[in-house]
Amino acid sequence: MMDYISTRDGARRKYCSSEVLIKGLADDGGLFVPVDFPRIDFSGSETYIEMASAIFNQFLTDFEKNDVQNIVRQTYSEFNPSVLTNISDQLSFLELWHGKTSAFKDVALQILPRLLTQALRNRNEGAEIVILVATSGDTGKAALEGFANVPQTRIAVFYPQDGVSDTQKLQMVTQEGDNVAVFAIKGNFDDAQTAVKKVLNDGDYLKSKPNVLFSSANSINWGRLMPQIVYYFSSYFAVAKANKKVNFIVPTGNFGDILAGYYAKKMGLPIAQLVCASNKNHVLTDFIQTGEYSIKREFHKTISPSMDILVSSNLERLLFDVYDGNAAAIARLMRDLSERGAFKIGRQQLEKIQETFVADFATEEETKNAIKTAYTQHHYLIDTHTAVAFSVYEKHRSDNKTVILSTASPYKFPQDVYHAIYNENAADYAAALYDKTGCEIPKNIKELKNKRVLHTGIVEKGELKGALDEFLK
Ligand SMILES: *Cc1c(COP(=O)(O)O)cnc(C)c1O
Repeated sequence: MMDYISTRDGARRKYCSSEVLIKGLADDGGLFVPVDFPRIDFSGSETYIEMASAIFNQFLTDFEKNDVQNIVRQTYSEFNPSVLTNISDQLSFLELWHGKTSAFKDVALQILPRLLTQALRNRNEGAEIVILVATSGDTGKAALEGFANVPQTRIAVFYPQDGVSDTQKLQMVTQEGDNVAVFAIKGNFDDAQTAVKKVLNDGDYLKSKPNVLFSSANSINWGRLMPQIVYYFSSYFAVAKANKKVNFIVPTGNFGDILAGYYAKKMGLPIAQLVCASNKNHVLTDFIQTGEYSIKREFHKTISPSMDILVSSNLERLLFDVYDGNAAAIARLMRDLSERGAFKIGRQQLEKIQETFVADFATEEETKNAIKTAYTQHHYLIDTHTAVAFSVYEKHRSDNKTVILSTASPYKFPQDVYHAIYNENAADYAAALYDKTGCEIPKNIKELKNKRVLHTGIVEKGELKGALDEFLK
């Protein structure tokens, strides 16, 4: 039986996986983590679906094995979650964006609603579940597609008014489904994330809605992280043989994707380095290099908006691990962060982090150059987020085989990608990019032009509850 505990609970109260998926966030504000990461051995000949089922079964011990397998099979036969493109003997891109919304978030968010509704059945829970999402652009759409019209669920998404790309925004405001709501929030992603966490921690408000359960589809939910562990295993076996170590470079924002790699390593996967690649908002680079995490700095809007984040929520799970489960220490660090805007970890803990993690960042100029280099030298089109990772790769080449996690289709950010390569304007950037490169436009993006805008609400960051009351009436 796999138990879960909260990163901030010194009493270590135990939860089962169904509870953890349903709750999303612990009552004390901490994040749920499994008490153990069992070693797992694959031969390398397993399919993605077999690997996913085996990994999920380690963590979802109060689910029937049959249910897990059916859910995994349904989800990952609808699209290929991980497509590997080799650029050279040494370097591969793991394209994680062949799902419905053309971002890697689909890998987890296509399966989360199925896991969650199964968890409700496991618990004999008849109440409706309301999913709240703060999005820096891609989570929102992927969660909307995952939850649209799923019985017993409703979903409300909050995105920063001026913090997402035109394509990202259009994807969200045209979302169909009778259980969905989408709001622009006046503020940046951190404001949106803080506001959503506040509602999820507001006991009085939650009590005022006795017939619904609130939860989160952000990567603070364990059900978001767990599916991401799988593609580290599957891609490892596709590029490496005989226990050779592999480096992964991960364009990072909320620290969910890269943390899944750390968990894969804890489960026995021979990962040499996890390279944490940030954009101009390089709070994580500074932290991993110095041990001091400080959000007392300017927030920059960049061409990789899904990484425009200062408060990287999942870092708390890594801290919990390197502090050997010392919840009091984590609670103290998180209090420092919210009261003083900064915290500093001990030297021993920093050394532990640096055993696995390397960190660097790319400026806006470097990001654009990386897009151009990938295309002109390798005839390979990458999006702005993947370009941050590629730029960092060029600074940290090593002899190990390297996998760069490619997190979005270039057609989610066609204007910036086109400008980076051709340095000229176009009337329709996606069409122009297609004309010049011949690289296919994903169907969901091509169809956006013909969709109706259905969601126009704008809320102040302190007024989420009002918007929710209206939605839940
Ligand atoms: C969400 C996202 C990221 C960052 O992933 P985290 O898990 O938040 O670190 C990177 N690239 C793209 C395209 C994303 O949508």
